[in-house]
Amino acid sequence: MKYARIQVGNKAMYGRVEGQNAIYEITDAPWRDHKRTDRAHKLSDAKLLSPCNPGKIIAIGLNYSDHLGDRKAPEVPEPFFKTVSSMVGPGDTIVLPREATKVQEEAEVAIVIGKQCKNATVDNATDFIFGYTCANDVSERNWQKNDLQWWRAKSSDTFGPIGPYIATGLDPANIGVSCRINGRVVQDGNTKNLIHSIPKIIEFISRVMTLEPGDLILTGTPGIPEDINDGDSVEVEVEGVGILANSVCAEQS
Ligand code: MG
Repeated sequence: MKYARIQVGNKAMYGRVEGQNAIYEITDAPWRDHKRTDRAHKLSDAKLLSPCNPGKIIAIGLNYSDHLGDRKAPEVPEPFFKTVSSMVGPGDTIVLPREATKVQEEAEVAIVIGKQCKNATVDNATDFIFGYTCANDVSERNWQKNDLQWWRAKSSDTFGPIGPYIATGLDPANIGVSCRINGRVVQDGNTKNLIHSIPKIIEFISRVMTLEPGDLILTGTPGIPEDINDGDSVEVEVEGVGILANSVCAEQS
């Protein structure tokens, strides 16, 4: 099943995707009790928003060996935060801040939490997952290297594209994730190659922090991300979810 969040007039609504081109409004977030209504929209005409509205976004660093370069694999998952204010939806523009000098994309599989979760174990962690979506963990590398905190390297406005859909029923140990810049493939990975698996990540985080329905966990990026520049188009594709497409533009002074 696939779900989306759409803009209808001045309201954000959740909907269920049916067939090739229909989205039916549902009465509440898809991870809560809800009903499907008869109000349908054409997917091709709908303004898609990021498919959830999380209280927090946690991202995992250095979680694919082909992304490590000469860095050591971390012994435990390495979470950091992205602010919810960095989030944008499918089709929105990634704006390169005026002072940024090296911005890169990072294609990632994102977990959408479905149930409140504290002290999960590897064995029951998947019970707390509602579904998966595409994320682009946009990063400014010089700020990431030189600032004490990653506050702007990872959370400048528009540095968190998410979407287009949440897909349920995927196998967390076998989800393909790739990235194209202007149609050219630059990253191509699969969650079967994660250093710390999806259940392990949920166990590690929920030991100290309660995860709430709608929260997002970005699971790490494979391979070697590349620079993105004014005028580029970036597509993150997660197998079973769809394609998250965003254009890139330089901030106007
Ligand atoms: Mg990342």
